[in-house]
Amino acid sequence: MKLIVQVTVNSRKCMANQTCVHIAPDIFEVGAAGYSRTRREVTEEDLAKLKEAQEMCPTGSIVVETMEV
Ligand code: SF4
Repeated sequence: MKLIVQVTVNSRKCMANQTCVHIAPDIFEVGAAGYSRTRREVTEEDLAKLKEAQEMCPTGSIVVETMEV
């Protein structure tokens, strides 16, 4: 069984304080538009860092979803 992982950032809630970027710089970046976005596709191996970023985000902007296939 494989785990599909998806992460999204709510650009309307993000305050661009870059907490997620400090936790997982290979996954998140704050773009010119002024909110965080993902730099690449994420995998099961990224799950711990994604959950940490989700927990630490002060505005609850990060949504991590998993699906077993
Ligand atoms: S931690 Fe949350 S509020 Fe801060 S930049 Fe990342 S998504 Fe935006």
